[in-house]
Amino acid sequence: MKIGLFGGTFDPVHLGHLLLAEQCREELELDEVRFLPAASNPLKETGPVADGPQRCEMVQFAISGNPAFSVDRREVKRGGPSFAVETLAEVAAENPEAELFFLMGADALSDLPNWKEPERVLELATVVAVNRGDVPAVVPDGVNADRVRFVAMPACDVSATELRRRAAEGLSLRYRTPAAVIAYLHDKYLYRI
Ligand code: ATP
Repeated sequence: MKIGLFGGTFDPVHLGHLLLAEQCREELELDEVRFLPAASNPLKETGPVADGPQRCEMVQFAISGNPAFSVDRREVKRGGPSFAVETLAEVAAENPEAELFFLMGADALSDLPNWKEPERVLELATVVAVNRGDVPAVVPDGVNADRVRFVAMPACDVSATELRRRAAEGLSLRYRTPAAVIAYLHDKYLYRI
């Protein structure tokens, strides 16, 4: 059993997230990918705009119809800063036979040395890094490159920041995130759309 875990703020989930997860699932022949919305990212200066349950719900809408994808709400339920090492340890204990893969973009990989217990993260899971747009994933100093695998995804220069900005300005989000997410944003007046 190969389980992909994909942590993020998902504020909101977008095409870049979905493509990353699908590309990694295919290339690494993962049995499943679990999206793990963070309650809050300890390395981001400002907290998420949408609340945890809303971000989980948007991910649920975005992945619907893909039997290999699921959303794991444990970090949102736990609350407080979300540390990958804690979540990985829990998932590893629950799935002793599984091989874990932690998926991330190039920007997250370059931040890895600043995470809580990065060595333990790399013991618990193989890190899978993808390019972010045209920016290639590079293993930062101090990170064991043997525990990192690279997957190339079609450059997709979409970010949640851009989506929030576009929503606030009343610009189109179409094709940047699934239609069901856009409908949800409208419904909840999120990001002042
Ligand atoms: P924000 O703009 O609010 O900082 P974001 O778009 O970076 O958000 P996150 O939820 O913080 O989204 O990202 C979760 C993970 O997805 C991170 O590992 C990040 O590198 C990766 N990721 C996000 N967007 C892309 C993208 N367009 N291409 C590749 N990886 C991405």
